[in-house]
Amino acid sequence: MSEKVKAASVPLCPVSSEDDPEQELLCIFGTGDLGRSLGQRLIQAGYRLVYGSRRPHSCGPLPPGTQATSHEAAAQSAQLIFLCVHREHYDFLESLTPQLKGKVVVDVSNNLKRDLYPEANAEHLQRLIPGAHVVKAFNTLSAWALQNGPSDANRQVYLCGNRTEAKQAVAETATKLGFTVVDRGSLSAARELEDSPLQLFPDWRLPMRLTVGLTAFFFLYVVIRDVIYAYVEQRKDISFRIMVSLANKVFPIVSLIMLSLCYLPGIMAACLQLSRGTKYKRFPDWLDRWMLCRKQLGLVSLAFASLHVLYTLIIPIRYYVRYRLAAITISQIRENKTTAFDTTMAWRTDSYYSMGVLGFGLFLLLGISSLPSVSNILSWREFSFIQSKLGYLTLFICTFHTYLYGWDKFLHLASYKWFTPPSYMLCLIVPSAVLLLKMLLLLPCVDKRLTRIRQGWERADPEDGTRKSLLT
Ligand code: NAP
Repeated sequence: MSEKVKAASVPLCPVSSEDDPEQELLCIFGTGDLGRSLGQRLIQAGYRLVYGSRRPHSCGPLPPGTQATSHEAAAQSAQLIFLCVHREHYDFLESLTPQLKGKVVVDVSNNLKRDLYPEANAEHLQRLIPGAHVVKAFNTLSAWALQNGPSDANRQVYLCGNRTEAKQAVAETATKLGFTVVDRGSLSAARELEDSPLQLFPDWRLPMRLTVGLTAFFFLYVVIRDVIYAYVEQRKDISFRIMVSLANKVFPIVSLIMLSLCYLPGIMAACLQLSRGTKYKRFPDWLDRWMLCRKQLGLVSLAFASLHVLYTLIIPIRYYVRYRLAAITISQIRENKTTAFDTTMAWRTDSYYSMGVLGFGLFLLLGISSLPSVSNILSWREFSFIQSKLGYLTLFICTFHTYLYGWDKFLHLASYKWFTPPSYMLCLIVPSAVLLLKMLLLLPCVDKRLTRIRQGWERADPEDGTRKSLLT
């Protein structure tokens, strides 16, 4: 437990920027969760530390080597003050205006909800203590992250403030704690920083909506075509197939469509650039948003492909499969006949499985290379080779795997129950279209033009030419 001292016994030594950083004295207001975690990190980084507290004599255990004192005394002793107190309690700072004049006050606060107050906490603080230089920082890190250090948690500290020197002082401290500093500009950016910890997987919203929508649609589709059709037309109850057979139909379908949706926006962007004859016009917002969530679309697709693999592996141990195999074998023994070996069938099934395994292997490679720890060590060319070239190869192999699954089923009328196409046919529409369009884009005449556009070439606008000639 740290030694608790009275206000008068705290060594009050104003800190200048020329002091040895190892000896620099910092101050934290508030001895709660964040105050303690931050204090611990600051002490480990070699700073001296004093806490400002309402109850300096009974504020509980503090990091070793630190002291607690009154807010007034603590504020006087340091140039940089971390305010680890909730916004609702900021009013006490008004009485400290003289002590805080010229000091850098770091606002680490967050709110429970967006738009809880008309102005950002940091802007409110700056109004309360106009003589101080308020910097918003550290609010995107949790007490846990601070305690465990940047190697185990988010490495970035976002900050904003109106005074450059104040931001520099905070940035230096954050850097010494091992964080990477991202300057977000003036204090008007504080609201954005305060809202960011309240976001719930913003990049995953569109991919999750698509996943849920596609899964629900295809699940309903296969239930109607398989289970309800069998019940209505043949009076057979095969509802037990929902758990494995139908699930294992839906997973690969959703996976393949999601994978092709990763590549479709890139193709659309290329078509737009070709038709506009320039790369300098903005894409529509929906296309921008779609492009930004390609990684998430790919990861969801990989998750569904993994489920397909797991469900396929359990097929031989299913009761239904074992029962059917035994029944077929026994009936063949009874009738004393065997089925002739079908080489075409052997080729078909082997190719089908082989494409599935290859596709999944490549898919895993795409997933692994999207991990930050892996992508960080790849050059841009290596990354784009894996994600683009190998990505299209993966899409091609997985699409081919599905075509092999269908084989000649599309020729059989029985496949079109209630005049509806089998689900695998529906799922081939988007990937086939993506692959076809990609092949068109790879045609030398198209590819050459697209490469020129991407290198900055712009098509002369005929309207501009007409206008110019009219003016001259
Ligand atoms: P906490 O555990 O509740 O601590 C808040 C501290 O504020 C108390 O320990 C108390 O310290 C002081 N305090 C309470 N009432 C006060 C009053 N009326 N007047 C003056 N001081 C008062 O909260 P926390 O989790 O450390 O969070 C502190 C701030 O950091 C909040 O603004 C929060 O949004 C932000 N933050 C927290 C985290 C986190 O992971 N916890 C992460 C990011 C940002 P004394 O008793 O010593 O005065």
